[in-house]
Amino acid sequence: MSHPTRTDLSAWLDLWNHTDLPTAMWIDGEYRAARGGASAALVTPRDGGEIARLPLAAEADVDDAVRGARTVFEKGIWSKLPPRERGEVLLRWADLLEQHRDEIALLVSLEMGKPISDAWAIELRTTIGVIRWYGELADKLMDESPRGREGSVALVTREPLGVVAAITPWNFPMTLAIFKLPAALVAGNTVVLKPASQSPLSALRVAELAVQAGMPAGVLQVITGSGPVTGAALALHQDIATLTFTGSTEVGKQLLHYAGDSNAKPVWLELGGKSPNIIFPDAPDMAEAIRTAAWAISFNSGQMCTAGSRLVVHEDVRDQVVEGVVSHLRSLRMGDPLDPNTEFGPLASSRHRDDVLREVAKGIDSGATLVTGSADAPDRPGWFVDPVVFTNVDNSDRLAQHEIFGPVLSVISFRDEDEAVRIANDSDYGLGSAIWTADLSRAHRLSREIDAGLVWVNCFEEGDYSVPFGGRKLSGHGGDKSVHGLEKFTAFKTTWMKL
Ligand code: NAP
Repeated sequence: MSHPTRTDLSAWLDLWNHTDLPTAMWIDGEYRAARGGASAALVTPRDGGEIARLPLAAEADVDDAVRGARTVFEKGIWSKLPPRERGEVLLRWADLLEQHRDEIALLVSLEMGKPISDAWAIELRTTIGVIRWYGELADKLMDESPRGREGSVALVTREPLGVVAAITPWNFPMTLAIFKLPAALVAGNTVVLKPASQSPLSALRVAELAVQAGMPAGVLQVITGSGPVTGAALALHQDIATLTFTGSTEVGKQLLHYAGDSNAKPVWLELGGKSPNIIFPDAPDMAEAIRTAAWAISFNSGQMCTAGSRLVVHEDVRDQVVEGVVSHLRSLRMGDPLDPNTEFGPLASSRHRDDVLREVAKGIDSGATLVTGSADAPDRPGWFVDPVVFTNVDNSDRLAQHEIFGPVLSVISFRDEDEAVRIANDSDYGLGSAIWTADLSRAHRLSREIDAGLVWVNCFEEGDYSVPFGGRKLSGHGGDKSVHGLEKFTAFKTTWMKL
């Protein structure tokens, strides 16, 4: 299925009317409230209205979820299942998600404001695709036995770790959880997921579908609650074997402390970014470079770890590029995220909208030139911010160094290749980067010199399940997806046998 069958707003509103939103945690194969009964309202960025109440898990609830996952792990009903059978469960899970694609897309759109067309086409395509990819990989993994030893045999085998904790953000609520879960699960672990407070609905429903697909209850638990209480209790838990996280650099650093204060669990981090998008005058298709630069800061309303938030453009083409990008951004259809025609939705929360607008105001005060957009919110329901473009930005300015995580583009010009590389690398982050040039040697030179986990040449955000996704420096380490994404969810064991 490549297009949703619901093609207008009323069809999606009708689906919402007929959908029961999850209101409890998914533990041991059933929906459960927090022991103390605490809960918090979930409001939709669509219009700020309350759509559900979700439990606030305290330490005892986190303990229940981890204990349940540990018990199931030790029983071996998942961890010792032949890998092919685990893979078959994942494949059935992917099929079920395909069948429930509209419903899950609706939950994503409602919880964090993503335009429904993007939720359906992009978020769900990736979610289903990654699960399938790991499902198909399950029985194709091999262990090692090095040759050349007389009188003995060495086996290097991979084993599951136990209970994996995953803590994820709201900007791609499904994709970023699914970058982790199938890899951890196919390796034989059990998982406790804490999604962001803003976006628990899709994760809960998807975990429920995993049980329908044949995954034993307790293998995948989803707990809800705040980061500083629920997330911290999970990260500090002594029975978590490894912690995988996607979110802000600030919280990522805190998690390293939690690991040190508890059982020294490994912590895998996918963090923030301030990705440079470098345009040379010889870009093979300048119109495409310009269209993509606008996309790279406006897709998901700029709430992308890999957003091309630093447009590093050669001075000879700067005016042409800025004019084109501004024109694209002004033409975006802003609107109700549940309207399939909407291209640009609200930000995920009022607090985040206010933070972004504060950064725009600081940018204006810094002396940068505001070419389009405003430090005031547009007058419409939902937490919108008009796309913003600043020129006359120096790479040392806050606008170029601080991750804003909204539709705010800083244009920085350069004169030659060396300067472009210096600007690109002068950042605490090292996640995405792009180079637009027809010069093959230059493309190779820069892709080696740029200190980032991802380099795109004449494209942006290209990706596939078979290649890893991840960053360096304060953008984290230990990429997700592909066979490399699996490694962090296994422990290797060396066994020597004397013959
Ligand atoms: P965040 O504030 O760091 O939150 C991420 C997750 O951590 C949420 O589930 C949050 O729970 C939880 N959390 C917060 N404080 C915690 C604590 N003290 N202990 C344990 N867990 C805690 O990030 P966000 O605002 O959701 O997402 C935006 C950030 O994620 C940006 O910096 C973005 O660049 C980054 N990101 C990175 C990637 C990547 O792949 N590199 C991808 C997407 C996003 P609550 O929601 O309850 O606070």
